[in-house]
Amino acid sequence: MAYEKELAVALQAVRKASELCASVQFKLVDVDRLQKKDQSPVTIADYGSQAVMSALLAQSFAADPLVGEEDIDELLKNHDMRSRVLELVQEQLEGVDEHDMLALIARGKGKSDRSRFWTCDPVDGTKGFLRQEQYAVALALLEEGELQVGVLGCPNLPKELDKPADRGCIFYAKKGEGAFMSDLDSSNGQPIRVDELDDPGRARFAESVESAHSALAIHADIAASLGMTRTPLRIDGQCKYAAVARADASLYLRYPKDDIYREKIWDHAAGAIIVQEAGGRVTDIDGRALDFSLGRELLQNRGVVVTNGIVHDKVLDIIAARRNHL
Ligand code: AMP
Ligand code: MG
Repeated sequence: MAYEKELAVALQAVRKASELCASVQFKLVDVDRLQKKDQSPVTIADYGSQAVMSALLAQSFAADPLVGEEDIDELLKNHDMRSRVLELVQEQLEGVDEHDMLALIARGKGKSDRSRFWTCDPVDGTKGFLRQEQYAVALALLEEGELQVGVLGCPNLPKELDKPADRGCIFYAKKGEGAFMSDLDSSNGQPIRVDELDDPGRARFAESVESAHSALAIHADIAASLGMTRTPLRIDGQCKYAAVARADASLYLRYPKDDIYREKIWDHAAGAIIVQEAGGRVTDIDGRALDFSLGRELLQNRGVVVTNGIVHDKVLDIIAARRNHL
């Protein structure tokens, strides 16, 4: 079947990268993190995870570009951090030295102007990772602008939301073949589906924990207009897409804080195909499909609306009415 090998390699890459992240999340010390030029945090796990995914993709698909979130600029200036990342990477990959490791991370500078490329977010939700909460390891394959494969590793996510002790899931999808969840450490994949709620009043919505990443007050207004009364599910990174795909929430709102920020492709690619294959719908706040073919950013989109499909138009109508009043 199409993309069988791509999915198998992506699953292996995300599993190894997730293992690396999980091995340090609760053991980070001060030198393991720094602030990037854009003021966002980065840790040894972000770099290590990108190196591991890059290595596994390079072994099987050497010609495919990789568009990853991290570059090596800061790492080149920081010897202590470099050695810490190397230790982590060597636990996952044999025979890799510092030079190899830097080259593997730097491969993530790949161009997305080819017909086929991968995109990864090595730790999506680094702020959640640092809070010792949720994050996701995200990897997706695009071809001719279409999402073909998506994998999300969620090492800290409970398998069932109301049983917090049992953690570690992986979500995956291939175009046209449905979405699945399995334990992070086994391959017991089970199909997942969005919920079938048609009354938004009974729905629960997911949103960011970080108030700097989306307009939480506007979400509250939209929720009130839809008659929603349940407390929102606040969770980091693409765990929100996973939450909609497995029916923990009926929608995920990401209303932009300003007109300037453009969403990054690696923050949405894997999550979007998983929700779509679970029967849901993903657009921006104007109802446009996300266009992954324009480089590292979703240049033509503003914000994101993710739903079970059934309530999507109602949510877009409320947003449009609100925008007309501004
Ligand atoms: P979340 O945990 O959903 O808030 O998402 C984390 C992602 O938010 C990170 O991977 C960043 O790329 C992204 N991000 C950072 N700043 C902003 C912003 N101003 N608006 C939207 N997303 C942002
Ligand atoms: Mg991210």
